[in-house]
Amino acid sequence: MKTFFNLIQEVQKPGKCHHCGGCVTFCSAINYGALKTDPQGKPVYADIERCIECGICYMICPETGVLDQEIIKEAGWQAPDGRIIGTSVAKARDLIIQESGTDGGVITALLAHLFETGKINGAVVSRNMETGRTPWLATSKEEILDAAGSHFNLSQGMETFGERYSTFSPSIKALGEIRREGLERIAFVGTPCQINTIRRMQALGVVPADSIVLCLGLFCSGNFTLTKENFHALESKYQFDYHDIEKINIKENFILRLATGEIREIPISELDPLKRTACRYCKDFSAEFADISFGGIGADDGYTTVITRTPLGRAVFAQGVEKVLDQHSYKENPTYASHAEAMVLAASKAKKLAAEKNLRELEPSPVTVMG
Ligand SMILES: Cc1cc2nc3c(=O)[nH]c(=O)nc-3n(C[C@H](O)[C@H](O)[C@H](O)COP(=O)(O)OP(=O)(O)OC[C@H]3O[C@@H](n4cnc5c(N)ncnc54)[C@H](O)[C@@H]3O)c2cc1C
Ligand code: SF4
Ligand code: SF4
Repeated sequence: MKTFFNLIQEVQKPGKCHHCGGCVTFCSAINYGALKTDPQGKPVYADIERCIECGICYMICPETGVLDQEIIKEAGWQAPDGRIIGTSVAKARDLIIQESGTDGGVITALLAHLFETGKINGAVVSRNMETGRTPWLATSKEEILDAAGSHFNLSQGMETFGERYSTFSPSIKALGEIRREGLERIAFVGTPCQINTIRRMQALGVVPADSIVLCLGLFCSGNFTLTKENFHALESKYQFDYHDIEKINIKENFILRLATGEIREIPISELDPLKRTACRYCKDFSAEFADISFGGIGADDGYTTVITRTPLGRAVFAQGVEKVLDQHSYKENPTYASHAEAMVLAASKAKKLAAEKNLRELEPSPVTVMG
């Protein structure tokens, strides 16, 4: 039976652990208490004596691939980019949500509606705090609205963010609270790697993922950690003052919206050195195992590209369109949504190719024996 010891050897040491926290969350939820995360978010032994060597942490980890066939079957996943039932471009009908959303505020509008109609009683989202995005179990519509978007305020200086600002939110850790709060109908918003971990936990039927009823995935080209020095280097190259950044959007480029109304676009490739190591080996751009996937790529400003992937996802989105969302007019541009989908597929292909190349570089070079 492979255990956390093997996760250290096979996943952490080669740099493939993306700190999703799935292994630790399960171990803590079941009260084994053998694992914890260190201050950098890396899973470590809390008390090796408490490890009963059940091997579930090893199975949950997306990087081991143990449950690949189970989750592929369950999701009806198809090559190359997962199951796609439909693609749309939409925005929240509510002007306040539209304004506070990252792109079209579609996720926030859907979650708020699901709360109002009693379909969910909690949602794992992420709030902007001083050190970056922080996971949060929202239990009301108001708390959902608080977590919308990617606005942040650097007006007090980078000091308010500590030494570094990370776009990563270890959201799976917030699942621990579900049990404490006694909630059983939870929506989870997260990156493709986090959704993948949740699906593995669901395939095993283990706590606390058994309370998750809806997975909303974010397109993801990577998570970035920005320090003062990084910001200063970008400031001089792209002519902005970081105090002026009001909002960050990640689409084809990393887009900074400034208080002056100006926009700065930084090619994502330029931020490659700031990407977490594990993101270099990740092949999932469009959250292929989510019920619905969301991103800005392919959509005009103020809109979100939405891919429905499961019958549940399609039903949730259809109800959203009826009650709280406006779709980009099909009459105005009949090919708009298919163009957006093509852009997602192209970004997805590029990410897979880059990851395959990076993974090949991890393989030991063959030894040639001279005769
Ligand atoms: C790290 C990261 C990388 C991304 N990369 C791309 C990309 O390359 N291309 C692209 O098209 N789109 C990317 N996106 C998705 C895009 O930025 C928007 O989140 C998406 O379009 C939804 O917009 P919205 O206005 O509908 O969502 P909103 O209504 O604003 O809701 C966003 C929801 O996401 C939650 N959230 C925010 N940050 C995080 C986080 N770090 N982890 C978990 N949950 C979070 C918020 O709490 C909120 O509930 C990325 C998002 C993140 C967080
Ligand atoms: S489950 Fe997640 S946090 Fe744990 S070793 Fe795997 S990638 Fe890392
Ligand atoms: S690039 Fe992959 S590993 Fe990195 S945060 Fe996004 S989904 Fe996770």
